Amino acid sequence: MSERVIIGRIGEIALKGLNRMSFEQKLAKNMKHAIKDCGDFKISWSQSRFFVEAKGEFDIERAAENICKVFGLVSVSIADKISSDFDEIAKCAVEQVRQKLENNPGKKLTFKAETKRGLKSFPMNSREISTEIGAVILEKFGGRLSVDVHNPDFIVYTEVREASYVYTEIKPAQCGMPVGSNGKACLLLSGGIDSPVAGYMIAKRGVSLVAVHFYSYPYTSERAKEKVLELAGIVSKYSGPIKVYVVPYTETQLAINDNCRPELSTVIMRRSMMRIAERIARSNGCSALVTGESIGQVASQTMHALYCTNAVATMPIFRPLIGMDKVEAVALARKIGTFETSILPYEDCCTVFTPKHPKTRPNIDELIEEETKYNYKELEDTAFKNCEIIHC
Ligand code: ATP
Ligand code: MG
Repeated sequence: MSERVIIGRIGEIALKGLNRMSFEQKLAKNMKHAIKDCGDFKISWSQSRFFVEAKGEFDIERAAENICKVFGLVSVSIADKISSDFDEIAKCAVEQVRQKLENNPGKKLTFKAETKRGLKSFPMNSREISTEIGAVILEKFGGRLSVDVHNPDFIVYTEVREASYVYTEIKPAQCGMPVGSNGKACLLLSGGIDSPVAGYMIAKRGVSLVAVHFYSYPYTSERAKEKVLELAGIVSKYSGPIKVYVVPYTETQLAINDNCRPELSTVIMRRSMMRIAERIARSNGCSALVTGESIGQVASQTMHALYCTNAVATMPIFRPLIGMDKVEAVALARKIGTFETSILPYEDCCTVFTPKHPKTRPNIDELIEEETKYNYKELEDTAFKNCEIIHC
């Protein structure tokens, strides 16, 4: 009797020493969260493998898909679990190969068998198991199959442990570290391509996310806000739940627009955003801010402008896209599934108020002097107090 189970393989966690256990527990918790809607299951782990087994009704295909997005796993397979008995293993391998052939009607295919034996009391070694499985498969399907050990069309994998596992597919997962194992950061999330990717990259290293979105209604529409929440929802499939702070930013932005020299207004606005974001970050126990900035992408991201924006923050600002070209950010956005939402044509508050000729080499003293001409603090306080909080 075989039972279908999910196998998840860990990567960097395996290199952890004494605290490996706490990383594994975090990973198990995150996997559980990712598949909570897929039915009744239990999770266990031993050595470098996590196992998800059905306890009742369980949508294993969808669960495997969701688990592929959980940081900390290198790859995922759906396997048949059987007792560690050669005849059972061979029977199971034959069934899986039969499926492969049925899915490729009329085609001649090549294969090889690969085995890992963890159960040292098993009477055959890995090489003998592979050879025997290969022989049984060839005996059954020799007309349509041949062995190619260098470049086979598929591989029949067998793992012999207390129980044994047979599978033919290994899906790559995200790698990284389990979210929650490495503190919390606050992501400045616009509706663009870059910031969701930046959030994904930081979460990948085990960091939980809180997000802040500056919203200038009615200059930016309700649809623009929905788009940002949708992006947070997509990133949360990887990062786990994200608390999104929507900051009512219209009054502050209008004040900056009305009171600053236009060529300085963008960087002054970015500094104001950092001040508010840092307050939200601090109130949520975050130890860093995260943005999607990349050197030279726009006027507010020249080295000089980044210097001036940075100078207002006391927390580190992480910019994981800093050395990336747009094409690289787009490729990642496509891979993680945010791209199609990011390119929906709803305006961002940064772009609505962009001056015609922003200064690409702003001077920090000049900026600070310009900022003192109006008391933005009160407006920023009000914006901070009136944030709308949405759980994504
Ligand atoms: P993106 O594609 O991420 O929107 P961008 O190329 O449009 O980036 P900017 O608009 O200058 O560049 O924004 C740079 C960064 O500032 C963004 O990646 C994001 O982290 C942050 N940001 C911009 N607008 C907002 C906003 N309305 N709310 C929160 N953060 C924002
Ligand atoms: Mg933007």
